[in-house]
Amino acid sequence: MPHVLVLNASYEPLGVVPLRRALVLVLENKAVSLEESGAFLHSATRAVPAPSVVRLKRFVRVPYRGPVPLTRRALFARDGGRCMYCGAVATSVDHVIPRSRGGQHVWDNVVAACRRCNHVKADRHLLELGWRLRHQPAPPSGLAWRIIGTGHRDPRWMPYLQPYGADDALERIGAAAS
Ligand SMILES: [Zn+2]
Repeated sequence: MPHVLVLNASYEPLGVVPLRRALVLVLENKAVSLEESGAFLHSATRAVPAPSVVRLKRFVRVPYRGPVPLTRRALFARDGGRCMYCGAVATSVDHVIPRSRGGQHVWDNVVAACRRCNHVKADRHLLELGWRLRHQPAPPSGLAWRIIGTGHRDPRWMPYLQPYGADDALERIGAAAS
C-alpha cells in the first residue's frame, strides 16, 4: 500500500499515513490533496486520483516530540549509507564507544559502518586503533527526519521536506538506497 505525506495546515510535515487513511481525510473534507501520485482509486461510481501529499485544513497543535527516533534507516540516511570510518558501503551499525565498554545506543555514539571495519574494530576504542571518524556523529535535526526515518519515500514529497532539514538528506537517501 503506498503511503502519503501529511502536512499540517502550516505546511509542516506531520507524518506518513497509508493511502487509504489519507483518502478518508480528503473525502471527509479534512485535508486537501496537494500532489497526486498519478494512480486512481476506483469506487462503484467514480475514479478518485490517489494523493501523494495532503495538507490538513485545520492547524493541529503538535506536542514537542523529542529527538528523532534512532532507527537503522534514519541512521543510514544520516551517514549517507557509507561507512563512517572508511567510506565504503555500510552494512551495519557500529557503536563508536563499544557497548561492552559503556557506550550508549544514542545518535552521538552510533555510526553506519562496513562489515570489514565493524569486524576489525570489534570492541576497541578509536584511540586504540588510531582511527578517526569522517564526521562527528550527531542527532539529525528537522521535522523531515521523522518522515525519512519511516523508510517511506516519494520524490513528490521532497519539495515539502526540504525546508525542514531534508536538504542534505536527499543525496544521502539516494546513496543509502543504492
Ligand atoms: Zn569501513
